[in-house]
Amino acid sequence: VRLLVIGGSDAGISAGLRARELDPSAEVTLLVADAYPNFSICGLPYYLSGDVPDWRSLAHRTSADLEAAGLRLLLDHTAHAIDPEAKQVAVSDSGGADHELSYDRLVIGTGAMPVRPPIDGLDLPGVHVLHTMGDTFRLHQALTAGAGSAIIVGGGYIGLEMAEALTARGLAVTLVEQAPAVMPTVDQALGELLGHELGRHDVQVANDVTIKAIHAEAGGLRVAGEPDFTATADLILVVVGVRPDTQLAMAAGVETGVRGAVRVDRHMRTNLPDVLAAGDCVETWHRLLEAPTYLPLGTTAHKQGRIAGETAVGGTAEFAGSLGTQVVKVFELAVARTGLRDQDAAAAGFDSVTAGSVEFDHKAYYPGAHQLHLHITGDRPSGRLLGAQLLGDQRAQVAKRIDIPATALFHHMTVAGIAELDLSYTPPFGSPWDAVQMAAQTWTRHTRGGQPTQAASNETRR
Ligand SMILES: Cc1cc2nc3c(=O)[nH]c(=O)nc-3n(C[C@H](O)[C@H](O)[C@H](O)COP(=O)(O)OP(=O)(O)OC[C@H]3O[C@@H](n4cnc5c(N)ncnc54)[C@H](O)[C@@H]3O)c2cc1C
Repeated sequence: VRLLVIGGSDAGISAGLRARELDPSAEVTLLVADAYPNFSICGLPYYLSGDVPDWRSLAHRTSADLEAAGLRLLLDHTAHAIDPEAKQVAVSDSGGADHELSYDRLVIGTGAMPVRPPIDGLDLPGVHVLHTMGDTFRLHQALTAGAGSAIIVGGGYIGLEMAEALTARGLAVTLVEQAPAVMPTVDQALGELLGHELGRHDVQVANDVTIKAIHAEAGGLRVAGEPDFTATADLILVVVGVRPDTQLAMAAGVETGVRGAVRVDRHMRTNLPDVLAAGDCVETWHRLLEAPTYLPLGTTAHKQGRIAGETAVGGTAEFAGSLGTQVVKVFELAVARTGLRDQDAAAAGFDSVTAGSVEFDHKAYYPGAHQLHLHITGDRPSGRLLGAQLLGDQRAQVAKRIDIPATALFHHMTVAGIAELDLSYTPPFGSPWDAVQMAAQTWTRHTRGGQPTQAASNETRR
């Protein structure tokens, strides 16, 4: 099989490696628009913060590792057009030379592009986005050239990670978010706690503000927003989300669906014969909603890529679906979510209830106990777990604790079922009932009409 893969990031590399693993005779060629195959984009904020001093260490695998695994890499090669009838892709290299490459199976892993919101002045020098290594080097250069202040437009997870990174680099940081609190993918009460953490580290946070224009001035770049917001800084970072990069696929006749992402089945097949797609450019099957969504995450891109690689060499594996499980570090806090929030669940037709609780991460008598804020969402009539959100000290194992409800959701468990799980315990790390289990019990008590605990003050209830 001649497998051609467009894209050399999480999805494309996973597809290529899986194909070779299952069929060592497969001829796998990867087209990569830049010179950085298999780089960990998720690590960009930690290079920019200085935590990871050398950008080369962001490579999940080196080019030599990939070639040793049997992948043929064509770096600085951009695909321009797909001819699905002739099974050929038109490609140009960095020198401008054009070629046609033939395939038996094609995997499109072109990923996502930063959203460019309608802001005047977005193309001014000093206005940055963050997605590729090229973006990263430009931003790094601005930092080493002595930028002293930054305005971050967008308080999603990348905005939050970058607020911490730029603060660590000594910049005065202002973060602007158009929602009432940062991290709008978690409940507002948790977003407000994150806002407080940012303030504690001298990040100026402006919520409920939409940036409309950026102007170059003698002293830097001035942003203007509504209602009634102006601020000036040396650099502006616009991180307001991503959109699927589907131009190439669409021009070839590939159908798109949710949020303009490539429509795929659970084998990652598009509507065109022998053309597969995976990662941030495609729709994501939601395991709980049993419907396509758009959830561009590295975790998902790896899994979808692996399925695409398997399908490409004749396998029958299906993508099991995503739950949007995610964790983010914000200074000393970590925040995590999985599944549906109350409003998402209600919109999907569930009779949802969300109960909040505050529990210690481990026995309070053992030094270093920290409070965890937990929100559990479940379906009232069936008791089924629908989602969970956690926020707490970064040492409180938030990341691994969210994986308990994430696993429970994956297996369609009830909220009460979480409390029955046989989880580990020793006083320095937990309690006989883990914090997640206590939160589940709070939800169960609450839906049975019992008095919510004092801790449940953050609850939202429909
Ligand atoms: C700053 C940042 C932090 C993140 N942190 C996390 C995190 O902590 N956890 C998490 O799960 N996810 C995180 N993500 C998201 C994660 O990085 C993406 O979901 C993942 O990279 C998607 O992989 P992909 O292969 O689908 O696409 P991309 O990573 O977008 O890669 C697309 C690839 O296609 C190539 N390409 C595109 N067009 C062409 C063409 N025409 N010809 C040839 N090659 C082409 C590009 O060069 C690139 O190699 C983060 C993203 C960013 C930007």
